[in-house]
Amino acid sequence: MSLLKKRPARTVYDYIVVGAGSGGSAVAARLAENPNVTVALIEAGGSDFTLATRAPAAFGEQFHKKGDWDYFTAPEPAAANREIHLPRAKVVGGCSAMNAMLWVRGSDRDFDSWGLDGWGWKDVEPVYDRMEGHFLPGHNQDGPMRINRLTTPDATAVAFVDAAVNAGIPANEDLSGPDLDGVSLAPTTTVGGRRWSTARGYLDAVVKKPNFDLITKTLVDRILITNGQAVGVEVSTRGRKRTLSVRGEIVLSAGAYNTPQLLQLSGIGDASHLRSLGVDVVVDNPEVGAHLKEHPFSFTNFELADGPWKGLFGVEKNPMHIVNWLRNGSGPIASNVAEAIAHVRTREGLEVPDMQLVFAPAFFWENGEATHTKPAISVMQSYWEPKSTGHVKITSKDPAAAPEILMNMLSAREDVEALMRGIDLTRRIIASAPYDTMIAREINPGADIRSPEAMETFIRETTLHTYHPACTAGMGRVLDERLRVNGVKGLRVADTSALPEITHGNTNAPAILIGERCATFIQEDAQR
Ligand SMILES: Cc1cc2nc3c(=O)[nH]c(=O)nc-3n(C[C@H](O)[C@H](O)[C@H](O)COP(=O)(O)OP(=O)(O)OC[C@H]3O[C@@H](n4cnc5c(N)ncnc54)[C@H](O)[C@@H]3O)c2cc1C
Repeated sequence: MSLLKKRPARTVYDYIVVGAGSGGSAVAARLAENPNVTVALIEAGGSDFTLATRAPAAFGEQFHKKGDWDYFTAPEPAAANREIHLPRAKVVGGCSAMNAMLWVRGSDRDFDSWGLDGWGWKDVEPVYDRMEGHFLPGHNQDGPMRINRLTTPDATAVAFVDAAVNAGIPANEDLSGPDLDGVSLAPTTTVGGRRWSTARGYLDAVVKKPNFDLITKTLVDRILITNGQAVGVEVSTRGRKRTLSVRGEIVLSAGAYNTPQLLQLSGIGDASHLRSLGVDVVVDNPEVGAHLKEHPFSFTNFELADGPWKGLFGVEKNPMHIVNWLRNGSGPIASNVAEAIAHVRTREGLEVPDMQLVFAPAFFWENGEATHTKPAISVMQSYWEPKSTGHVKITSKDPAAAPEILMNMLSAREDVEALMRGIDLTRRIIASAPYDTMIAREINPGADIRSPEAMETFIRETTLHTYHPACTAGMGRVLDERLRVNGVKGLRVADTSALPEITHGNTNAPAILIGERCATFIQEDAQR
């Protein structure tokens, strides 16, 4: 079903939510359940009715296209000065419509360690339960976010689980958390072999309601603030500027790059930086856009030996796979590519796993854009406890100009050492049965890259990120524990920027959790 409907005529709303992604869809849909309030959800991108958003295996086809903000980092000093591509969805559903569909809630230690009122595991677990329609017992089965396992996993993914178990990693059916240790085929946000984004989970249920307007292809330029109160937004639709006013509150859910950008464009940020660009200062807070956290992601690839296993090699050349997927929702097109995961502790003395190994039955290199001439598999190492921190800073008062994004990736040596340990562990898995007979050779890093020096160079030259930017407007630094922007009334943030620290896990589930929490906070505070 298409989510788009006739452009609405309203110019005043009770609530305005900026960004129809993971967090924004949840907060807007929950608010719109109350028929007595009007809600606008404003999205820069358009409809998600495309093959690349619906067919799991095609998610990478969205990169560099019109549904991708197509950001790049500034040259990364500790990562060989590379300008690294940052795919970011510009579409209804946001990154939940572009991501690899893994569903991991995080560890209970994440939430308990923040020490924030209302955010301990005992507070958030019931909210996660409410959100989930999970295939595993022990989880809620009726919530809006549907989580399933692939019905037709590739043989090499099943072999990954076996090899990991043989290398000493325990099998664990339920890797969604909070107990994360172990290996399994992946829990994915898919239904019948199709992606299940927040557009499906939250927006389909409200989009036809008379009190709800989904306004697409519209960029929010800035928040309008009068006497410390958020009163509306300035938006541009195909170059035409207009203002939408708010009676209640505005929620920024533009994601960890665009939310701090919007705050800065609206005068909330480091005063001297804002003044240098001619932006009038509303709140001087240098923490806006600071503390950018990401999980660094290193890549290893292995060529498959001759045998019945081919992974996803050559899938795109066989139209029967598309036909099978359209008819039955199965086969390689239904693959989320990240078909199996292992959550591991790379050193002694850790309280929770510090790394996710992500298995793909394909040659995955340079964000999936590089190709290899023979069937191959990949194992990626996502480090969950990064010490490096970066920033997002506007470079102009023009809302259409990309902000400067610097991850400072691998600037903390500890992060490099963790990835080295992760690659060592991966090599152990690859040497274990049944992979010992299935793998012909190591492509990357390559058999000759073994010494610590060679490994460090490999990591600095090739590591990317897990597409998990977070913490750029964190609670405790920019927001209070009810997601309110410090120093401005009627303005909240509900996306991964709000995380005080990046979680042990993939970030879609926490983003939606924050959206759910934000709607509850708004509804509770409106009663006071
Ligand atoms: C390629 C990729 C793979 C990933 N894989 C996984 C995975 O397997 N599992 C997982 O858990 N996580 C994964 N993630 C991360 C996860 O999807 C994100 O962390 C999560 O979706 C972020 O949610 P959000 O609400 O913070 O932002 P988003 O979902 O990015 O939503 C922000 C929305 O705001 C819109 N917007 C931005 N600026 C403006 C503006 N000025 N005006 C109007 N609209 C605006 C954007 O277009 C976007 O739709 C992946 C991400 C990517 C990109």
